[in-house]
Amino acid sequence: MQSIISVRQLTKQYASGYRALKDIDLDIRRGEIFALLGPNGAGKSTLINIICGIVNPSSGTVLADGHDIIADYRAARAKIGLVPQELSTDAFETVWATVNFSRGIFGKPKDHAHVEKVLRALSLWDKKDSKIFALSGGMKRRVMIAKALSHEPQILFLDEPTAGVDVELRRDMWEMVRGLRESGVTIILTTHYIEEAEEMADRIGVIRKGEIILVEEKHALMAKLGKKQLRLQLRQPLAAIPAALASPQLELSADGSELVYTFDAQAEQTGIADLLRRLGEYGIDFTDLQSSQSSLEEIFVNLVHADS
Ligand code: ADP
Ligand code: MG
Repeated sequence: MQSIISVRQLTKQYASGYRALKDIDLDIRRGEIFALLGPNGAGKSTLINIICGIVNPSSGTVLADGHDIIADYRAARAKIGLVPQELSTDAFETVWATVNFSRGIFGKPKDHAHVEKVLRALSLWDKKDSKIFALSGGMKRRVMIAKALSHEPQILFLDEPTAGVDVELRRDMWEMVRGLRESGVTIILTTHYIEEAEEMADRIGVIRKGEIILVEEKHALMAKLGKKQLRLQLRQPLAAIPAALASPQLELSADGSELVYTFDAQAEQTGIADLLRRLGEYGIDFTDLQSSQSSLEEIFVNLVHADS
């Protein structure tokens, strides 16, 4: 299947000289919810803002639904709705005027029925005649979402959509996102909350210091999380693991000097006691042992720590 967004060799060096993105390659699948997960300063907003045409890339290419975001800017941008991280709207306009105006910017003909539908879905209908400055922060954010949806985009970007929002808005937002996905809209959201990516996404990409360090199906990723490894340094190298001990969880290092046992740290039964007993039975002696988290777990622990 052709990807709806394809990013190739994308770099961004800000005028300050800071390299915020380094050779990013990324494909977003049509119709998926993709979560871009990374600590503050990782480059999430920079990447999104480049795709949306707000920040210029230093090098590389981006296609949005087949349109080059620079050579074919208007066509690319018309496909995209963006809810930016920072709130910014014309404070003295009404909700109704702002959202209808937004639609017009993208060259779409007036469609009051569509705008009404969007406002109702975001519980903004009874606020349609309010001036934006008079709204609460949560309501202002709903207006930003309504603006982003005003021109019926095929691709919706949500940059840190739930940072600082109340529980009710968060819940409404996820419901809306799921509804949009059902109607065929592709959704890319950024977050620095692992739980949020876990709840919402079909696939998760992790970005750190301007580099995408992994992209994976959420279910595959979650299955790998919470895994630990026990490494046993053997007194005598083994040529092979004895057949009676063979298990997908147990591996022998290439030089035969180390056994590596992978287990679920959250499980009631890790199987370690049983493993050690059986090694004893087979006369396999070890000189030392260490346990470590899987590399994926390390990545996530680092992410969480980098955030605090
Ligand atoms: P994130 O959204 O993941 O928190 P950003 O994309 O906002 O990260 O920022 C990535 C890095 O680029 C940060 O170190 C940030 O300070 C830097 N940066 C962002 N915008 C600018 C700018 N306009 N000029 C210089 N550096 C910037
Ligand atoms: Mg950001």
